[in-house]
Amino acid sequence: MSDTRNEPSLETIISLAKRRGFVFPSSDIYGGFAGVYDFGPLGVELEKNLKAQWWKKMVYERDDIVGLDSGIFMSPNIWEASGHTKGFSDPMAECRKCNTRIRVDKVLEALGVTADEKMSDDEINTLFDAHRKEIACQACGAHDFSRVHKFNLLVKSNLGDFTEQGSAPSYLRGETCQGIYVNYKNVLDSTPVKIPFGIAQIGKAFRNEISPRQFLFRTREFEQMEMQYFTKPENEMAEYEKLREYRWQSLLDLGLQEKNLRWKQHNNLVFYAKDAWDIEYNFPWGFDELEGVHARGDYDLTQHTQGSGKPLDCFDQETAERFIPHVIESSGGVGRLFMAMLFDAYREDTLGGDTRVFLAFPPALAPVKAMVSPLLKNKPELVEKAREVYTALKKDIPQVMWDDNGNIGKRYRRQDEIGTPFCITIDFDTLGETPELKDTVTIRSRDTATQTRAPIDEMIVMITTAVHMNSFS
Ligand code: ATP
Repeated sequence: MSDTRNEPSLETIISLAKRRGFVFPSSDIYGGFAGVYDFGPLGVELEKNLKAQWWKKMVYERDDIVGLDSGIFMSPNIWEASGHTKGFSDPMAECRKCNTRIRVDKVLEALGVTADEKMSDDEINTLFDAHRKEIACQACGAHDFSRVHKFNLLVKSNLGDFTEQGSAPSYLRGETCQGIYVNYKNVLDSTPVKIPFGIAQIGKAFRNEISPRQFLFRTREFEQMEMQYFTKPENEMAEYEKLREYRWQSLLDLGLQEKNLRWKQHNNLVFYAKDAWDIEYNFPWGFDELEGVHARGDYDLTQHTQGSGKPLDCFDQETAERFIPHVIESSGGVGRLFMAMLFDAYREDTLGGDTRVFLAFPPALAPVKAMVSPLLKNKPELVEKAREVYTALKKDIPQVMWDDNGNIGKRYRRQDEIGTPFCITIDFDTLGETPELKDTVTIRSRDTATQTRAPIDEMIVMITTAVHMNSFS
């Protein structure tokens, strides 16, 4: 085995993800559907583990945070009050030759030019005009784009709209946190929590992204993990610093390499925000947003107080005054974290003269914890014993895979590629061919590609201990 390499391209990860059943393009047999992906048998396990780690950190390990699962559909009034129906937009231009649409702020950003979200239509057009010559259509190469206009990202539906003209749309939620804000009072009144406290939620969000791209990085349907923390105004910034530190450490605890993470502060804060930082991951195209930690002041609860007409303030026992809690939030996407995890875990080394690919997931995160197989699948006595070991191991760890396809070397390589930390093989010595080795098995380690031999009961203890260490459940 030679030096280990860890610099996969985006194409390498997309191909591995499809080949091994992590992620499939949506509607594949119909030629695909832009901005949506399906998670396959292994993807769904990895996704579940990532969400379990987040929930453990943000709910189970905290006395001051509780969970919520609000509906994807909500009153359209919520999106009016939050400002999304008017302001949740990205600047878009269209190629006049081939109709390809571009997201203007991102295209300008690639040229090192900042297009502030607060810019008016005229301002962004002036900026775009100054750089038009440098911008070629990625599809046809033409330098001929339309004027820029703001495109609203909310996805409309006709749920509850019987006008048949779509004149009273409801929206698929554009972010999960609005469901938290509008339930904050319900949670406060129905549980023992007191300010400061947080509400955490994991769920789907939908955005009409102009140009979905970079695999799971920018999709139209995605899942968010958001936690909104309600504080007294004077404590907002101290709590904010604590949350920033907490989120950073949580990503390290997940197993991401620190050298691939960095903080980036927002340059252009929206008017109500106190401060905003993103944690960025070093993707193949450079550092880009993984999750955000934002100090939002009293904007959200004030907007919903005005929009609903219901008071959302609290009574401060110490000062005998009423106040609107300030909000700090941690907001991340499951898909972006999923992709970061694949890049981070990807390894190549040389084994027996060939390039070997493996995913170095920590055992708690690996979709499959162990593979069990009989050395030869046409020997019933080996198969029977292997089934016995498989069943015994599965009692303690459900994510165990049976694999008797192809020769043992091929099985190991397949498991390496999906990140299975341990492979257990049952051979003739297990059956007692060498008497002192009876009821022992080989345990092959993914990371070192070496094998050790141990009694079955010791192997089970060893694997369950490795999996439960840093476990997320
Ligand atoms: P960006 O600037 O990249 O569009 P954003 O700042 O609008 O992202 P937020 O609205 O703060 O993102 O959403 C919080 C998190 O949700 C992001 O950090 C990201 O992980 C995830 N997210 C947002 N939009 C998408 C998307 N289109 N596809 C996948 N994940 C997304």
